[in-house]
Amino acid sequence: MSRIVFLNGSFLPIEEAKVPFMDRGFMFGDGVYEGIGVLDGQLIDNEAHLERLERSLAEVRIRNPYSRTEWTSLQEEIVRRNGMTEGFIYFQVTRGVAERDFFFPENAEPTVAMFTQAKAIADAPAARTGIAVVTVPDQRWARRDIKSINLLAQVLAKQAAKEAGAQEAWLVEDGFVTEGGSSSGFIVTKKGSIVVRPLSNAILPGITRKSLLRLSEEARIPLEERRFTVEEAYDAAEAFLTSASNFVLPIVTIDGRSIGDGKPGPVTKRLRELYLSMARVPAMAAE
Ligand code: PMP
Repeated sequence: MSRIVFLNGSFLPIEEAKVPFMDRGFMFGDGVYEGIGVLDGQLIDNEAHLERLERSLAEVRIRNPYSRTEWTSLQEEIVRRNGMTEGFIYFQVTRGVAERDFFFPENAEPTVAMFTQAKAIADAPAARTGIAVVTVPDQRWARRDIKSINLLAQVLAKQAAKEAGAQEAWLVEDGFVTEGGSSSGFIVTKKGSIVVRPLSNAILPGITRKSLLRLSEEARIPLEERRFTVEEAYDAAEAFLTSASNFVLPIVTIDGRSIGDGKPGPVTKRLRELYLSMARVPAMAAE
């Protein structure tokens, strides 16, 4: 069975889904996106993802073509049509199709595209072994709080990480870690506090980050919301990342240096377990 995607009102086989040449997403990267995790066939933290989508669209002045209820039905339908129980849903909205010109087009309809990627998240090997990250300069624009489809800086950063034998890049500005190429970055101090950069225009407000902060508060794990340097990360007891498609992933080396004893740490493991149990609660009970 071919993968079924959603494009501008229709579900269709991916081979038949065509976006016009002059789409502003293609020409300018003029659009925003969201990505959400699916576990046991359930959408995780969907309301928060839809809220962030609404915010991104408003910030770049693209009309939101659907209500939250409509988005949710489309997401549920694409999961159902692809028979996906675990993985990732990607969806993007661009400013639409118009002759190439920088000014907003008068009458363009937003282009909406959505697809699924089946993936083992709960039982991912990387969660057992931990991953390597390398640091690279943060070369992105000044509005990283908007989930823009312009990801060229992240493509280059993550490719540099791959070529250095790592699985994620940590982006660095003025000596401080901003976040991962496609994840939020955390360290755990030797005293056992979680440290994470506060929200600002410098980072994406990660939805998994937000849930993790709530879970750590409930578990009474001390939290310091502040910037941390690369040196502090090298010297941390533990490091980890969060994202919708990975939940919580241990980081065992940064720039080739072992973090802690070079194995996934106890605080990270506990947080991953807490996140998994939260994600596994049937949606009805969680509301
Ligand atoms: N920061 C960046 C730059 C990202 O691309 C992502 C993943 N989209 C995240 C953080 C994590 O956000 P979330 O937990 O909402 O997936």
